[in-house]
Amino acid sequence: RLEIRNIVRDFEGKRVVNDVSLAIDPGKVTCLLGPSGCGKSTTLRIIAGVDMQTSGTIHVDGQLVCDTVFRVPPEKRSIGLIFQDFALFPHLTVGDNVGFGLSGSRRDRAPRVGELLERVGLSHYVNEYPHQLSGGEQQRVALARAIAPRPSIMLMDEPFSGLDNRLRDGIRDETLALLKEEGTSVLLVTHEPEEAMRMADEIALMRDGKIVQRGAPYNIYNAPADKAAVAFFSDIN
Ligand code: ATP
Ligand code: MG
Repeated sequence: RLEIRNIVRDFEGKRVVNDVSLAIDPGKVTCLLGPSGCGKSTTLRIIAGVDMQTSGTIHVDGQLVCDTVFRVPPEKRSIGLIFQDFALFPHLTVGDNVGFGLSGSRRDRAPRVGELLERVGLSHYVNEYPHQLSGGEQQRVALARAIAPRPSIMLMDEPFSGLDNRLRDGIRDETLALLKEEGTSVLLVTHEPEEAMRMADEIALMRDGKIVQRGAPYNIYNAPADKAAVAFFSDIN
């Protein structure tokens, strides 16, 4: 379970994240929606530990991960990341990419690597290199790599935006099924209303660094908090 409380982030006197609180239970997906520059990626970076909040606290599974004095390093937070530019390691095989975050020898890691490659339908590529795969295939490898260490939390920042529509639906559903199965808490940033309606257990609308509305997708869709949200959801056909 992810719990962030009263997160504030100032950059040179400008308040970019303004008192954001959120909690996400295991196996649940919260979609963070909002206009460009409202502070979505900054919020995710703070949770991941690659940026630091000005104030506020983050807990993962009840353990304090950071406040303004104490800070667990990013690699020890049990948090997985899938960003839009999900670079694979070009010099590692597909199998070694997927096993990258796992401990032990290659043989120790093999069962988990095999299981995940099978889930994303790429078992036959285990010994190939990333450049031998299509963009969509590479993205599935990146997905398997992020999920492999069984992180409690998965942060996704527009992870599907580089894909064509047909491919995107499949990978999206696959990702969601895998994360639900593993009981991962998911925070997903998207600019696609349909994606949010389809994937979210809860939607959080962000404006100028603040969460202005939270709720079930259906409720937000039916009673959006502001004109921008009305316009956003009116794109759904
Ligand atoms: P988008 O949808 O375009 O990705 P976003 O909601 O992810 O937008 P952020 O990347 O979180 O927006 O940025 C929010 C604000 O914080 C922006 O005004 C940005 O210029 C500012 N900002 C982000 N990082 C820094 C930084 N390192 N130094 C100064 N300002 C920053
Ligand atoms: Mg962003």
